[in-house]
Amino acid sequence: MSSGPIDLHTHSSVSDGTETPRELVDSAVRAGLGTVALTDHDSTSGWAEAAEAVEGTGLTLIRGMELSTRVGYNSVHMLAYLFDPAAPGLVRETERLREDRLHRAERMVARIRADYDLEWGDVLAQATVGATLGRPHIADALVAKGYARDRSAAFAGILHWRSGYYEPHEAPSPLTGVRLIREAGGVPVLAHPATRGRDANLPMTDLLELIEAGLGGVEVGHRENTDAGREFLRRLAREHDLIMTGSSDYHGDGKPNRLGENSTEPSQLARIVEQATGAAPVVG
Ligand code: AMP
Ligand code: FE
Ligand code: FE
Ligand code: ZN
Repeated sequence: MSSGPIDLHTHSSVSDGTETPRELVDSAVRAGLGTVALTDHDSTSGWAEAAEAVEGTGLTLIRGMELSTRVGYNSVHMLAYLFDPAAPGLVRETERLREDRLHRAERMVARIRADYDLEWGDVLAQATVGATLGRPHIADALVAKGYARDRSAAFAGILHWRSGYYEPHEAPSPLTGVRLIREAGGVPVLAHPATRGRDANLPMTDLLELIEAGLGGVEVGHRENTDAGREFLRRLAREHDLIMTGSSDYHGDGKPNRLGENSTEPSQLARIVEQATGAAPVVG
């Protein structure tokens, strides 16, 4: 595998990143990465373009996804690496997720329209065809209309879950997520599990249940994890022999996160590759 930093969490325009998979690969090369994982929300549509784009670059591509799951109103993101993209269980679940995200975005726009001049078409104009739709696309539409300075401002205001415009979308439980990813031969890694907000931060009993069901690892290095949270995750990983990753969660211009700002040790990536039976790294 290539030398250079390993960044295992990025998004392209297949979901809510602002660069196409090919542009993302170019950015990763320019950032000096050795390995990059493409982990769009609930979609593998970018895999083929990214695999083609790494050819001859010396960059290694890890094909992945960030699966939306939830516990009540809390959203829990599950990174999935090197699974079979045709595995029926996961295909069915992600199709359902993308479909429900679409209707949920429509419901949110219907609410926002009562108070702002925003049309459904304004949101569609911000997303590529077939993209996994989310609040970031509504945010971009609000920015285009002058109602917010940038995505972050939109999230802090109109799109905040307490704003009155928020709608949840359907998602499987984290336990179902872990099972589906393992069934597909992939390796499930809990994304940013120690942030300050209301997302993730599963209680210990839930974490133990996920580990029991086959959770492979935890994303320790992520800008939104607190220091105390990282310490907790390291201890958890040591006790249960979990893989530890570190990643940027790059979204192009959609977030301040920069490629390689957190990275993963080669020994930890080796464990992911070893456990995976659904797909292999693409060595460019
Ligand atoms: P959704 O899944 O549609 O509810 O939207 C959540 C997504 O929005 C996550 O994938 C984040 O990447 C993105 N997001 C959350 N907060 C922000 C923010 N402050 N600025 C930009 N993107 C954000
Ligand atoms: Fe995102
Ligand atoms: Fe996430
Ligand atoms: Zn992400």
